[in-house]
Amino acid sequence: MSLIPDAKTQDYLLLTPGPLSTTRSVRAAMLYDSCTWDDDYNLGVVEPVRAELVRLAAPNGGGDNYTVALLQGSGSYVVESVLGSALAGRDKLLIVNNGAYGSRMVEIARVLGLHYVEMDCGETSAPNLAAMARLLESDAGISHVAMVHCETTTGMLNPLEEVAALCRRHGRELIVDAMSSFGGVPMDVPALGASFVISSANKCIQGVPGFGFVIARRDAMARCQGRARSLALDLYAQWHAMETQHGKWRFTSPTHTVLAFAQALRELDAEGGVAARYQRYRQNQRKLVNGMRELGFDTLLPDAQHSPVITAFHSPSHPDYQFKRFYQLLKDKRFVIYPGKVSRADCFRIGNIGDVSPADVDRLLTAIAASRYWLRD
Ligand SMILES: *Cc1c(COP(=O)(O)O)cnc(C)c1O
Repeated sequence: MSLIPDAKTQDYLLLTPGPLSTTRSVRAAMLYDSCTWDDDYNLGVVEPVRAELVRLAAPNGGGDNYTVALLQGSGSYVVESVLGSALAGRDKLLIVNNGAYGSRMVEIARVLGLHYVEMDCGETSAPNLAAMARLLESDAGISHVAMVHCETTTGMLNPLEEVAALCRRHGRELIVDAMSSFGGVPMDVPALGASFVISSANKCIQGVPGFGFVIARRDAMARCQGRARSLALDLYAQWHAMETQHGKWRFTSPTHTVLAFAQALRELDAEGGVAARYQRYRQNQRKLVNGMRELGFDTLLPDAQHSPVITAFHSPSHPDYQFKRFYQLLKDKRFVIYPGKVSRADCFRIGNIGDVSPADVDRLLTAIAASRYWLRD
């Protein structure tokens, strides 16, 4: 049995929301073995990574009040760690839900037995801010609000600044799932006043999968002590080990992934930081949407609600259209697109984050134009 992938499984352009296409130099950074408790790794790699994440989160200052914990696993592990560690026994969480990742937070809250209320907005609507304000006014028991920033289900960018302002005004703690936006969409975490901002290695920072991270206000992190509903996902314990032992991970660190991430952070800086990356993603997304419209495809969401990260398109209504066949034709040309995830509309999705340029989007559009088999047959 050969476990080495053949050429056919390599060199796709991943037009997905992560894992995504990374640079060769990010992948090459993994060609070293590090010791999980050695200073070269902890002081030389982990601590600079944590400091850089605070710097990215606080572009206009205020970073001194924030700290970072890195945690093994995919993004959902980190979301579960934060929800399970931030709320005291009698605290209550308001979950804003307008997509699969909002629903995942609801599921986490249910499994962990948290007190929570769900604000179900439907999958294609932005949260109603007036309704949220009324909810916060009428239910003094709500201590925390959790919301996804970019809802990767549809590509919708939720109104983070407005929701953060509501939380500040009503004195509630804000937890943001910024998984598919942090590093690719400008964000000033101290100005938002958010308590916890969550993301992972394999999204807009353009690293490889294996861990996620939390940017936390120091006072909010301190309050997590002793609250966790899990040993391995105890956010405070994870942070405390890193903070007091200078970058030490509590359990085995995904060392190679962290090396790749450190390189990805250098490349983000070399690109010109978050602002420049945001411009590239926006250019990619606009080119994609304009080109797709010319080819007869419609977006699920209006442009005003859109993030520059991923776009959901309605499936062609032609009776011969099948996602699987369309997907395979594009895959044969080395492009991997993403199935839809909206329950009430037939869609497919195309992401444009990762090592993807406007020239790649042009190549993709040419491939899509040639793959509309339902127009030919
Ligand atoms: C990717 C993503 C997650 C985490 O998903 P995993 O499969 O656990 O990595 C959570 N929220 C959002 C908005 C995401 O895009």
